[in-house]
Amino acid sequence: MIHAVDIAKLVQDIQSASSVVALSGAGMSVESGIASFRGPGGLWEKYDPEEYGHINTLRYEPAKAWIMLSEMEREILKAKPNKGHFALAELEKMGKLRAIITQNVDGLHHVAGSQKVIEFHGNLQTVSCMDCGYQVPSSEVCLDSLPPSCEQCNGPVKPDAVFFGEAIPPDALTRSHQESSTCDLMLVIGTSAMVYPAASMPEIAHDAGARVVEINPSETPLTGRISSYLVKGSSGEVLEQVVQQLLSSVV
Ligand code: NAD
Ligand code: ZN
Repeated sequence: MIHAVDIAKLVQDIQSASSVVALSGAGMSVESGIASFRGPGGLWEKYDPEEYGHINTLRYEPAKAWIMLSEMEREILKAKPNKGHFALAELEKMGKLRAIITQNVDGLHHVAGSQKVIEFHGNLQTVSCMDCGYQVPSSEVCLDSLPPSCEQCNGPVKPDAVFFGEAIPPDALTRSHQESSTCDLMLVIGTSAMVYPAASMPEIAHDAGARVVEINPSETPLTGRISSYLVKGSSGEVLEQVVQQLLSSVV
């Protein structure tokens, strides 16, 4: 149940902010049919992502790692952006959203038309050879016999996402820090705020004086500590209403 008073408050906060940045997580894509890790139907029910999605599993037991990866690839390749992704793209067009820092690896913010997206954990849209670097779109990778291999040199291949045990790409980390420390409103959407260092971005924003607002059906460790308030609801429903109200207040 979305509280109308919270939506109105959020609309007002967006209107009065001078630079808004969003941090999105797996919850943002639940309405696109991609289960979050910890949610119902999520990978955590079948595999421990910290084991199957660890870089050492991919290096030393690639067939095991690709069991989970191939499921994720299949799910992501058929997914389409939802109302929430489109609403954020619209907010950017309206000049009301400076950047999105996303933990998601599904590429759906780009597909929805958002231009300034920092992919904190890379993406699953492309796959690269770990030996020669040859890169292909994931849609061209044969997932019928696992693990897949490089069509140029037969080497092992890896999706261009950040695995457990790997560092965040330095450029994404630097840009995310900069966006977080200079915004005056951060929207934290559909993340459990438990995976670090992504989860430190709202803390950085808060410590630099920004207001932090969450959009999530559930509370998180940020609620009441870092975030000023939580708009309880799904990101698609909440963000669609926010954009509708902003558009109607412009005319
Ligand atoms: P998480 O699974 O830990 O948490 C998901 C959060 O979304 C929860 O707080 C949940 O209450 C909330 N949520 C559920 N449905 C929602 C909805 N309809 N609208 C808004 N919020 C909703 O996800 P996380 O915090 O992003 O961290 C997990 C890691 O898993 C991330 O690093 C991410 O890279 C990866 N991941 C990505 C995808 C993807 O790309 N779509 C999917 C699964 C996991
Ligand atoms: Zn190769």
